[in-house]
Amino acid sequence: MPELPEVETTRLGLLPRLKGRVLKRIVVRNPRLRWPVPDDLESQLAGRPLDSLSRRGKYLLFGFGSVTQIVHLGMSGSLRFAEAAEPAALHDHIDWLFDDGTLLRLRDPRRFGAVLWTDDVTRHPLLAHLGPEPLTPAFDAVYLHAQCQRRTAAIKQVIMDAQVVVGVGNIYASESLFHAGIRPGTAARRLSRPACARLAAAIRQVLTAAIAAGGSSLRDYVHSSGELGYFQLQTRVYDRAGLPCKTCATPIRRIVQGQRASFYCPACQR
Ligand SMILES: [Zn+2]
Repeated sequence: MPELPEVETTRLGLLPRLKGRVLKRIVVRNPRLRWPVPDDLESQLAGRPLDSLSRRGKYLLFGFGSVTQIVHLGMSGSLRFAEAAEPAALHDHIDWLFDDGTLLRLRDPRRFGAVLWTDDVTRHPLLAHLGPEPLTPAFDAVYLHAQCQRRTAAIKQVIMDAQVVVGVGNIYASESLFHAGIRPGTAARRLSRPACARLAAAIRQVLTAAIAAGGSSLRDYVHSSGELGYFQLQTRVYDRAGLPCKTCATPIRRIVQGQRASFYCPACQR
């Protein structure tokens, strides 16, 4: 599943070629994504220049003046540049054609993604209730501690809650908790302020490293430059059940929380 680092990598890859380009056409071959692609997507956006491409959580926000296109890659979506003559493949559901001939193409085999538009991005129902971005100053020890104090759930589930902080997926949650020395099953309200400071710093560090590596979790992730990338995070605990901890050699344990696998070192995380 594309996580925040993949989405940010996509954004950084798309921006230089699309900024300032005028959108000419949108071809929707299959509108049946997680929510139907609106019939008036092209009429709302065509003829406008792209003046910004930002990200909120895992949502890409294409700014076309007063109208914003919202794109979510869902479970299996990817955006890449295609050649004009390149025929669309089975799962290539949407094309955007720009004034210089640039062709942006969405592939989404499982169709859990979304392509929508809004004229009020701050109040859009998908975006209005999102927590702070993990890589901004709003996400700090004081904030995280206050959120934890209000919650009885396990800390791993709290940091994966988009209303607490956006973009911390399953892999990054396990890795961040390892770096902070906190067990994933610990009740959030039991965490001290210093533990929250370590965890907030660990989340920033893990996500920043993943963005620098170009994303990690989608095996056949297609780079926005068009080349196929095989990113693999050098994980310390994720997907390493039974293998020796890279710090202390204790076997890594796997537990299931909220139907998701969690991994931790019983010696390093107490
Ligand atoms: Zn260890």
